[in-house]
Amino acid sequence: MRSGSFHAKEVEEDLRQLLIYQQYDRRLLELEKSSALRVRDGQTLGRRRLDGEGRLADALAKRAANGNDLRAAEVELAETHAKLKALELRSGRVKNSLQGESVGEEERILRAKKARCEEKCLTLMEVCENGDREVDDLRAELKVLFLSIDDKLGEFKGAASDSAKVKTELENMLSHLRGSIGKNWMGAYDRLRSSKLPPPYVCPVEGNRCNGCRMHMAANGAGCGNSPARHCEFCNRIIYEEDTEIENEEPAI
Ligand SMILES: [Zn+2]
Repeated sequence: MRSGSFHAKEVEEDLRQLLIYQQYDRRLLELEKSSALRVRDGQTLGRRRLDGEGRLADALAKRAANGNDLRAAEVELAETHAKLKALELRSGRVKNSLQGESVGEEERILRAKKARCEEKCLTLMEVCENGDREVDDLRAELKVLFLSIDDKLGEFKGAASDSAKVKTELENMLSHLRGSIGKNWMGAYDRLRSSKLPPPYVCPVEGNRCNGCRMHMAANGAGCGNSPARHCEFCNRIIYEEDTEIENEEPAI
């Protein structure tokens, strides 16, 4: 157990270990940040895929509706044609001029209707052909898009699996390091990490200026409770003198 009085050697050792801890921890933070970005990008790609599927579904629905309209117009044309044929038979049996006029009027109406139906069929055929081309073009466009999305999602999956491995290694390393750092130091560090403050949480002081928030301190930092750690009076980061003899080891991972 550590005593209440802080020996310079112990402080230096805790600080040295905490700085090593921070180096690994910052790698963990970076990893978590890039994982979060990857998840966000993956969601964006997923939405683009859904959007593409939606566009294709809309184009197919429009094409199907136009196809139905065309079939209805073709039925109407066939019926009108049949009525005209029947009328032609009746016109051969006309007995007087009154009947002739009536048949003639009916024939005029039916011919006009037939012309409208033919026109409508032609227009709808063109609309359907355009719709087929639109669907084909969209399918080709989406095929390329979906392939690139799948490639990207595959990359993300590989990267996620790699970073999960590194994350486990880092977490094991951090958990191992925690055992060699005083509880007060670790507690102060954890509180800073869980605050909104961006890293670093432990930083040197250069000429009374905190290296974290770049503010000039009147005093050389303040202790906190019974903790030997000194904190910046502005940002509360754990601070230490630049000339403190601390070996900064590079993380091995
Ligand atoms: Zn500060």
